[in-house]
Amino acid sequence: MDTGTDVDRSAGLDRAHALALEWLDSLAERPVPPRATTEEVAALLDPVLPDGPTDPATVVEELAAACEPGLNAMPGGRFFGFVIGGTHPAALAADWLVSAWDQNTGLRVITPAHSAVEDLTERWLLDLLGLPGHSAVGFVTGGTMANFTCLAAARDEVLRRQGWDVATQGLVGSPGVRVLVGAERHDTIDLSLRYLGLGAPEPVGVDDQGRVVPAALTAALEAGDGRPTIVCLQAGNVHSGAFDPFVETIAAAHDAGAWVHVDGAFGLFAAASPARRHLVEGHEGADSWATDAHKTLNVPYDCGLAIVRDRAALRAAMGMHGDYLIFDAAGEPMDKVPEISRRGRAFPVWAVLRSLGREGVAALVDGYCEHARAFADGIAAIEGAEVLNDVVFTQVCAAFGDDEATRGVVEAMLADGTAWTTGSRWRGRAVLRMSVSNWSTTAADVEASLDALRRAAAR
Ligand SMILES: *Cc1c(COP(=O)(O)O)cnc(C)c1O
Repeated sequence: MDTGTDVDRSAGLDRAHALALEWLDSLAERPVPPRATTEEVAALLDPVLPDGPTDPATVVEELAAACEPGLNAMPGGRFFGFVIGGTHPAALAADWLVSAWDQNTGLRVITPAHSAVEDLTERWLLDLLGLPGHSAVGFVTGGTMANFTCLAAARDEVLRRQGWDVATQGLVGSPGVRVLVGAERHDTIDLSLRYLGLGAPEPVGVDDQGRVVPAALTAALEAGDGRPTIVCLQAGNVHSGAFDPFVETIAAAHDAGAWVHVDGAFGLFAAASPARRHLVEGHEGADSWATDAHKTLNVPYDCGLAIVRDRAALRAAMGMHGDYLIFDAAGEPMDKVPEISRRGRAFPVWAVLRSLGREGVAALVDGYCEHARAFADGIAAIEGAEVLNDVVFTQVCAAFGDDEATRGVVEAMLADGTAWTTGSRWRGRAVLRMSVSNWSTTAADVEASLDALRRAAAR
């Protein structure tokens, strides 16, 4: 029987390379939304699991032919939905090596190349983000798992301070943990708390940009019931782009003995730009920070960063202490993340930092902000349109009259296909939201997208 062990490796890779370039070259011109639905793509795939082998070149050819109509031009310059990010060419190239090298990166002695790159990338990131240099950076799958990982360290540490060891005692019968969050935190904070058995958090009042009101936080902290406390702050509100006032809120939380976590999935990178650093002023005083590399920093999925000041707290929460594993004094990469087996996520992060340099990362962030500003100015000039947020970073929230009119513009944008924007609700109103987070977005992309918005608003 043919087991496929004598396959032609290079023909498959050559074909994948050509197909990848075709896709990337199509991004500038193709409509952003997919042309085919899930059902239509499914109909293009042979539903029968084959009995025998097929060579890799034929397989990737067939895959691309079926999938091409169902692909969303997300990595292109005119995708402004959610907060997505793009893929920088250096990160993409390094990511191909990640798959070819296929390193399982949990332990230093087994994959020293990745450990060395991860250690260096950790130092670079802490420097760039203005965070304490001895902090630990865990390379996880995304912002959700970064929040989860940081909050696991937080939960265990605040309970440990009360003499309760979660690792051996579990949560049942523990003093419990009180979690205070801004009323406009990202839903993944709630999800992480659920995974951690901490239940629903207590929301704290926010201002008209979604920023935690320091007096409201102080009042909530003073109304404590003796349980250890975690405070979740935010760098980058998905609607307004706003940042919590870290100086006052972190001081108040620490005075009350709380652990402070910052969800900065896309906003933490404001720290990497001298022109935007003021937005995160005081953020380095927190205890943990979650961010994504696959958003603002433009590496491919999936890459989040769980950053914890107290390395030992992270290691205590995430480390696995089985005797059969080989431990190293420097700490193992797997001690900082939930997974044992994982791909070489630090390689593409290193590559984008190595390619852009400090100034390039700052220019990347500033470029997003300038495009967001141009969107806001363009929208404000449209008859009947209104920009609802203070555009301080990469997010623009707009309304085009009443909710029905705004939803109509969101639908018309999708049908037009020039650009992708997201419909959402913010502060009780239907909104159209734009998020700029792709290195390849140009001023011409912004102008073409504004033209589409003008057409949608005038229809
Ligand atoms: C995107 C986002 C998350 C979740 O990140 P994923 O990478 O999608 O898991 C969490 N918080 C904020 C503020 C985000 O923008």
